[in-house]
Amino acid sequence: MELDPAGLLAVAREEAVLGKSEGGVPIGAALFTVDGELLGRGHNRRVQDGDPSLHAETTAFRNAGRRPHYRDTIMVTTLSPCWYCSGLVRQFTIPRVIIGESRTFTGGHEWLAEHGVTITLLDDPDCVTLMTEFIDEHPDLWFEDIGTSA
Ligand SMILES: [Zn+2]
Repeated sequence: MELDPAGLLAVAREEAVLGKSEGGVPIGAALFTVDGELLGRGHNRRVQDGDPSLHAETTAFRNAGRRPHYRDTIMVTTLSPCWYCSGLVRQFTIPRVIIGESRTFTGGHEWLAEHGVTITLLDDPDCVTLMTEFIDEHPDLWFEDIGTSA
C-alpha cells in the first residue's frame, strides 16, 4: 500500500494549528508506522509548558510511548527538523521523515538524507503560512531559542 504523505502531514498540521490556538509555537508532528497507523502526535509546547525541550517531534515521539524498535516508523513534521529532533531521528533509527516545509527554517534534513534517512519535503503552503505569520507576529518567541542556534 502506498502512503499518502499529504494525508499524514494533515495530522501534523492539525497539531500545529492546535499549538497556535494555545498561543504556542505552531509546529506539529506525528509518528506513524510505515503502514500509516498513528502511534503518537503532538506539538511544540515551549510556551504552554515553559519547557524548551518539548519540540513537536519530541512531543509526538513521547506520546507514542515505547516500542521495541523504530525501524518501521515515519516521523511527520510541519517544519524541517532542528538538530535536536534530527538527532532523535538518528538516535532511534527512524528511517523516513515527511516534512511540511523548509522555507522558514532549514534544520538537519539534508544531514539526515546523507545518513540514509528517506526525506519527503512537501513544501506545503499552509505550513509556510503558519510559520510566516507566527514569526511576523511573535519574533521574540521565535528567536528565543531558534535564533541563537540558526
Ligand atoms: Zn526540534
